[in-house]
Amino acid sequence: MKLRSTETFWPLKNAMNISYPSINSDINTEILIIGSGITGALMAYKLISEGKKIVLADRRDVCNGSTAASTALLQYEVDVPLHELIKLRGEKCAVDSYNNGKKAIFDLRTIIDSIKSDCGFEFKKSIYFTSLKKDIPFLKNEFKVRKQFGFDVSWLNKQDLEKIELNALAALESKTAAVIDPFKLAGDLLYYCEQNGMQIFDRTNIVSISNQKGRCIAQTENKYTITADHVIHCTGYESTETLNEKIVDLKSTYAIASESIEEIPLCLKNAILWDTANPYFYYRATSDNRIIMGGGDEEFKDPKKRDNLLPKKELLLLKQFQKRFPNSDFKLDYSWAGTFGETKDGLPYFGKPNAKKNEHYILGFGGNGITFSVMGMNSILDSINNKKNQDLEYYRFGR
Ligand SMILES: Cc1cc2nc3c(=O)[nH]c(=O)nc-3n(C[C@H](O)[C@H](O)[C@H](O)COP(=O)(O)OP(=O)(O)OC[C@H]3O[C@@H](n4cnc5c(N)ncnc54)[C@H](O)[C@@H]3O)c2cc1C
Repeated sequence: MKLRSTETFWPLKNAMNISYPSINSDINTEILIIGSGITGALMAYKLISEGKKIVLADRRDVCNGSTAASTALLQYEVDVPLHELIKLRGEKCAVDSYNNGKKAIFDLRTIIDSIKSDCGFEFKKSIYFTSLKKDIPFLKNEFKVRKQFGFDVSWLNKQDLEKIELNALAALESKTAAVIDPFKLAGDLLYYCEQNGMQIFDRTNIVSISNQKGRCIAQTENKYTITADHVIHCTGYESTETLNEKIVDLKSTYAIASESIEEIPLCLKNAILWDTANPYFYYRATSDNRIIMGGGDEEFKDPKKRDNLLPKKELLLLKQFQKRFPNSDFKLDYSWAGTFGETKDGLPYFGKPNAKKNEHYILGFGGNGITFSVMGMNSILDSINNKKNQDLEYYRFGR
């Protein structure tokens, strides 16, 4: 018998230790941030540290967009391998983008320490492996190019992988990567910013923005206005609702989490893993000894179709897990689906799509969404102040 629908009030209330009001008056501010996921939370942290007056609004309860679904592997490796990114965007942009990702992981650690967030940040290695003979030359090429540009990588052969209990043919191991609990971190950042003067309104849907005399007037669904000098859209995949330019192909993606298990495969104790399959599968462990894995991406049609595929995708992911870890048992505890997106070059979009309007976007699309958001945080002030900035150039709209 089904005793209840999936989400009732008390478990959710207990999981959310803080709640924020919805808007109930017109407001005037310096900066309006739309979106309370990891991107909005990081922008807020940066701008509060600069003494700015900020209001943040979200149409859902805070942090309940993609950030709540993220598996939160932090890698400097972009979805597009370095040797391919060089062909797409040139050597300087490609190598700088890989280095930006690396710096973002360390920057995030500094921020987490500064607000004393208990979000489970742990440094890990990253293992990019293949179980397909045909992909070995591709992986070797990537290894060579990463070495050439000074990235700290090692080559692992089948025997090396056997020793760390991974059933695969070869791998490229990077020394810098990490994992976090993204929902906890975003919540902690928002709380910190609120304590330092930011106003937060959740369940506040922004339905339109008009520009008058250099100021932005955001209209909420319940007919209040937030007037600001600048608006920063941290609206994740829903930004496709307000952008004229098509910048992202939306995908449905799937993830599963195991029960806590006594013996995690050796490689997952120290590393996060992803493979060369297309679409790729990826794996991490959590601090309470669960394994999270994801993949099985499909073209996104609508949320209903995405969610209907979940039982089929659970089986696909479990089958993959058994192939990689034949000696481990994955006792399924949670599974979920999310929306996700890919840009043509695997890189994010930052800045103003329209130079005449003070509306900025920070869109960390792709498998590196969280490190991209940290990079966006490092560029937002220059975007607001109209200052030249290399990243705003690399990741501009209309590129
Ligand atoms: C299953 C899955 C696995 C992933 N794994 C990884 C990973 O391993 N590593 C990684 O780096 N990234 C990963 N990502 C991507 C990463 O989660 C996202 O890049 C990141 O969470 C995006 O954060 P965000 O704050 O930009 O967006 P969101 O968390 O989606 O926040 C945007 C917010 O904007 C609000 N909003 C939108 N429009 C409006 C409006 N008009 N008015 C008011 N509010 C509005 C939404 O309600 C939402 O809360 C994964 C994503 C998924 C779905």
